[in-house]
Amino acid sequence: MDKRFDIIIVGGGLNGATLALGLARLGLRSLVIDAQSQSAQMDGSFDGRSYAMALTSVRLMQSLGLWDALADQAQPMLDIKVFDGNLTNGPSPFHMHFDHTEIEEGPMGHMVEDRHLRPVLHNAVADQNLITYLSQTRVVSQSIDDMLASVTCDNGMTYQAQLIIGADGRSSQTAQRAGIKRTGWQYPQTALVCAIEHDLPHHGTAYQYFLPPGPLAILPLRGNRSSIVWSETPRQADTILSLSDDDFLDILRPRFGSFLGDIRLAGKRFSYPLGISMTKTYISDRLALVGDAAHGVHPIAGQGLNAGLRDIAALCDVIDQARTRGEDFASINVLTRYQEWRRFDNQSLGLATDFFNKLFSNDNPVLRLGRTVGMGVINASPTMRRGFIREAAGLTGELPRWMQ
Ligand SMILES: Cc1cc2nc3c(=O)[nH]c(=O)nc-3n(C[C@H](O)[C@H](O)[C@H](O)COP(=O)(O)OP(=O)(O)OC[C@H]3O[C@@H](n4cnc5c(N)ncnc54)[C@H](O)[C@@H]3O)c2cc1C
Repeated sequence: MDKRFDIIIVGGGLNGATLALGLARLGLRSLVIDAQSQSAQMDGSFDGRSYAMALTSVRLMQSLGLWDALADQAQPMLDIKVFDGNLTNGPSPFHMHFDHTEIEEGPMGHMVEDRHLRPVLHNAVADQNLITYLSQTRVVSQSIDDMLASVTCDNGMTYQAQLIIGADGRSSQTAQRAGIKRTGWQYPQTALVCAIEHDLPHHGTAYQYFLPPGPLAILPLRGNRSSIVWSETPRQADTILSLSDDDFLDILRPRFGSFLGDIRLAGKRFSYPLGISMTKTYISDRLALVGDAAHGVHPIAGQGLNAGLRDIAALCDVIDQARTRGEDFASINVLTRYQEWRRFDNQSLGLATDFFNKLFSNDNPVLRLGRTVGMGVINASPTMRRGFIREAAGLTGELPRWMQ
């Protein structure tokens, strides 16, 4: 196996795999190193996880030639309805309704199940000659000199490239080894995640209920199924998770409501402790961070993966332009352009998700009144509604070429 590449990507999750495919489109040879087995990444068994992929993330998949393999299984998101509520009185009559027909571009996004997305990405990686994928291997050290970056793995091998990119998730050791500091905190919330079958059609509508312990999102999947992301206090989440499927559904039903008829579990249940984690910088000498390695946010807006995919599209643009101009694409000047493009957007997303989570995850009557009035005002204003829809679709700000 070669020991020299253009770029080494540490982490072959959703972001690392997509990045390698983007770099291959630019003609760059990459080595992707991941601790897990690739067969686990390609495993198409149903694990209940799904992603709300914004319109611009779908465009990236189209630009990379991946969307045809995903489209048949993806559910367009046509409407989003947001309610404030509590378990005693149910949803407030004031709610926000975002309808995709208010913008010209089409559905705000698509719901894509992890069991479909991950194999499509990893099959494309396996078919691409410019990508070498090293699975079940951990990077244990890295070093940088003037012209070259090196990583050493737990298989004892050392590999070299012009640039290292950390796509190794929220506890990125690539960032740690580079001395990049993180800031963040855990929320007193755990997300319970599963898929539900229901009797009635959802008509492509996503529902978000803000309940005192945290949000409950009901997101449309293909057929009469929806993905649930349900936040509870960690203790309550542990108790709910330990229940039988029937008892779990008995707790979910009063929160879910009966608008989709009777509900049943459609797969396993998962839990994720929720937190926010942002690095102080995304770059260092011959090193850049993308996705959760740079910024992990609360899933309240379903934007974490979308933000990572936007990092990737932006970084590929920056690298491509640098090569066209004859610059060293791994130089700090070039990487600074990537950081300036993405860091402010991601920090704003992190602050907004933190603010909305704190504003809505409580039963304070004064805040409840403020929320009711605020939601009424937004819902009555076509300009504000369109602004929210464009934000959910990822259409705001400077769009990378593959997302235009
Ligand atoms: C409950 C929940 C719901 C969500 N819903 C949405 C949604 O609807 N829409 C959306 O856009 N986002 C959503 N997200 C966010 C999204 O899941 C993440 O942003 C995304 O999965 C991050 O992918 P990643 O590839 O950056 O990191 P990860 O998925 O963490 O991948 C990191 C990879 O690096 C590898 N690795 C780590 N350390 C090493 C090492 N030392 N050597 C080699 N390999 C290593 C790991 O094996 C792993 O494969 C949600 C998140 C949660 C928790």
